[in-house]
Amino acid sequence: MADAEIIAVGSEMLTSQRIDTNSLYITDQLNALGVEVRRKLIVGDDRALLTDAVQSALSHAEIVILTGGLGPTEDDVTRQSVADALHRELVFSQEICDTIEDRFRRRQRKMAEINKRQAYVVAGAEVLPNANGTAPGQWIASDGRVLIMLPGPPGELKPLFANECIPRLTKLLPAQVIRARFYRVTGFTESDLDALIAPVYTKYTNPSTTILASPGDIQIHLRARCGSAEDAERLLAEVGDPIEELLGRHLFSRNGDPLEAIVGTLLRERRATLSVAESCTGGMVGERITSIAGSSDYFVGGFVTYTDRMKADLLGVDAALIAEHTAVSKEIARAMAEGARSRTSSTFAVSITGEAGPESSTGAPVGTIFVGFAGPDGPPDALRFAMPGDRARIRGFATQAALDLLRRRLLKLE
Ligand code: ATP
Repeated sequence: MADAEIIAVGSEMLTSQRIDTNSLYITDQLNALGVEVRRKLIVGDDRALLTDAVQSALSHAEIVILTGGLGPTEDDVTRQSVADALHRELVFSQEICDTIEDRFRRRQRKMAEINKRQAYVVAGAEVLPNANGTAPGQWIASDGRVLIMLPGPPGELKPLFANECIPRLTKLLPAQVIRARFYRVTGFTESDLDALIAPVYTKYTNPSTTILASPGDIQIHLRARCGSAEDAERLLAEVGDPIEELLGRHLFSRNGDPLEAIVGTLLRERRATLSVAESCTGGMVGERITSIAGSSDYFVGGFVTYTDRMKADLLGVDAALIAEHTAVSKEIARAMAEGARSRTSSTFAVSITGEAGPESSTGAPVGTIFVGFAGPDGPPDALRFAMPGDRARIRGFATQAALDLLRRRLLKLE
């Protein structure tokens, strides 16, 4: 199994102005070849630091890929640092120099003297022609390891990687397949979830398990690397199936689709329609539902009713009911859902009312959220939640809770 490390070179990527997107592209391409990226580094334009990073990467990984720092200026240190790290010379290539000069000539420009810097190659490197820029890439294979230098601009890097590197890597690598499962779960804290499933996944290093958490949405990635697709699928099933069993009704996605896509599919399958009534989330549920292309098949619309008066005017919620229970109550969540459903003639409706903070307007503790549901099979109902965190987190949780309540009602899960 081959592992890779990526080093993105450039001081600009250590500022808040630029992010390293090249490594994301390279990671995708390597994964498709069955290569796992073990580490990524971002190193400024510093010859000594970069030399150090290259040596460290070569001591861990069979494939080391550098992007950027191949320009003509003093601060483009990649060629020199790689030469230092490998204890090799930099050799001037007249052929590269002529190609660069020719490129300038075709644009009616004269090559500057400093561009000659780009004509140096690390001794023993194979030159990877760059049809879209002046700096060619370089490929160095030695001691069973490969080091690749690629230009920084994505428009140059991508075609170079696709045309020059993938065919070379394919020849070099043993046939290897990566298969993945991508679960999404709601209704757990990250630590509770980990306590539940760690006894299963910690027994295995292949598949590898990664857990990512955001409010109300925990993602579990399982990735198996094997010589054949069957072996990879078998390993995934060995670890994934018991995990699915443990997650039960909390597991909402097996392929990484978000909750709004899952409920969209369920609504479409049932030829059902949906409306929403939102108070403290101000339209976030509607936004997520409509972020899915084709949602007009099932989504009829929504109401953002922030004040008591709008709840009464737009949804027909009884003002006396609000006076009796306050707007943040089970009764009002139910009435909002029922109002949305009857005013739009949708099959189902969900509603949200609550205290997102930082102050409470009704006396209910900040984080108190009621999610209402109305459908054709019985009276409307509502659930109460106590959401943690600040306003943004509470609103995110509430939106997720409403979509998940809808999912569970559509699947008739308790
Ligand atoms: P050039 O010959 O254009 O100088 P180079 O190989 O020296 O190429 P850099 O100077 O490091 O590359 O970067 C050129 C530009 O490419 C940067 O300003 C940035 O916009 C983009 N770039 C560099 N590295 C990355 C990266 N890792 N991810 C995304 N964009 C990048």
